[in-house]
Amino acid sequence: MTLNVGVIGVGMIGREHIARLTDKLVGAKVVALADVNAKSAEEAAAGLPGAKVYPTGEALIAAAGVDAVVVTSWGPTHEGYVLGAIKAGKPVFCEKPLATTAEACLRIVEAEIATGRHLVQVGFQRRYDKGYRALKKAIDDGVIGAPLMIHCAHRNPSVPEAYVSDMAIVDTFIHEIDALRWLIDDDYVSAQVLTPRNTKHTHAKLNDPIIVLIATKSGVRIDGEVFVNCRYGYDIRCEVVGEEGVASLPEPESVVLRKDAKLSTAIMQDWKLRFIDSYDVELQDWIEAAKSGKVSGPNAWDGYFAAVTADACLKAMRTGEVAPIVARARPAFYA
Ligand code: NAP
Repeated sequence: MTLNVGVIGVGMIGREHIARLTDKLVGAKVVALADVNAKSAEEAAAGLPGAKVYPTGEALIAAAGVDAVVVTSWGPTHEGYVLGAIKAGKPVFCEKPLATTAEACLRIVEAEIATGRHLVQVGFQRRYDKGYRALKKAIDDGVIGAPLMIHCAHRNPSVPEAYVSDMAIVDTFIHEIDALRWLIDDDYVSAQVLTPRNTKHTHAKLNDPIIVLIATKSGVRIDGEVFVNCRYGYDIRCEVVGEEGVASLPEPESVVLRKDAKLSTAIMQDWKLRFIDSYDVELQDWIEAAKSGKVSGPNAWDGYFAAVTADACLKAMRTGEVAPIVARARPAFYA
């Protein structure tokens, strides 16, 4: 059976996901598109034989020929589309964020629970990255004993002028927020944000770098650096210190060069390339799960927990104090 997919939002990541669903992955076909910019949707449809453009995301969700929905529109629109897909009983893959507030995520959680079906997957692709999976396996297999600390960093060479301090949390560190919680299977209880001296490459509306300190329920301490004008490359680092050893995220594959009196390996520059394979694995997994009737990747509860954590980090950044991370009790539905 082919999964007939409708995509809402055909901007940067929307078009990438359409290309993957069409040219790389198996078992799905993009049959419907919608975007607030109709011309953009028409353009995207031009390369997709048989794909129909709908005037609104709501019309796309309601279309009889659409089995499942991919939401890649602007963040503030996610809640409405995800709730619409749930109401229609259709599996939905929603790019992060699930919604822009914790309350909105909770509305999605409640709507999904009310259907009794697991329909929602959130686009936290790091869980599908080969390196993160190997790191998780080492932790789960007990190779380093119980985790005690995590040191991590999220560095970009540069960001556009429109990138401001809050985005360091809600757009950048949000990936660590989800991936680290999944990695050690532990919830968070508090956050603090430290602001070292700014790099000269930043601007008035962006504290760069920052350090996010998170404490988990079991007492693990996480320190995460976000440095988005680091200049040298896109570099994702993660080291988990356990009772019996230390496990680190592997470096992305790269040829080791001995040349011009130097031993060197290239450092990636483009974040899209760093996780390109994981997007493929993530969406292929979603296709299979959507067809089987039970979406199984990062779920609405994970989207909610990430939003609660991000809110606490933002509060901590504004106040300079330790902010508690207070989430609802996890419903049995997401056990
Ligand atoms: P983008 O290039 O701006 O694309 C968003 C698209 O949605 C644009 O075509 C936009 O049209 C359209 N849109 C806006 N409001 C809409 C509405 N009400 N209904 C339908 N379409 C609407 O943004 P992007 O970079 O692709 O990001 C999209 C989402 O993916 C964001 O939530 C982002 O955080 C997420 N994302 C995730 C990752 C990841 O690593 N997992 C990476 C990149 C992006 P206009 O341009 O005309 O407004």
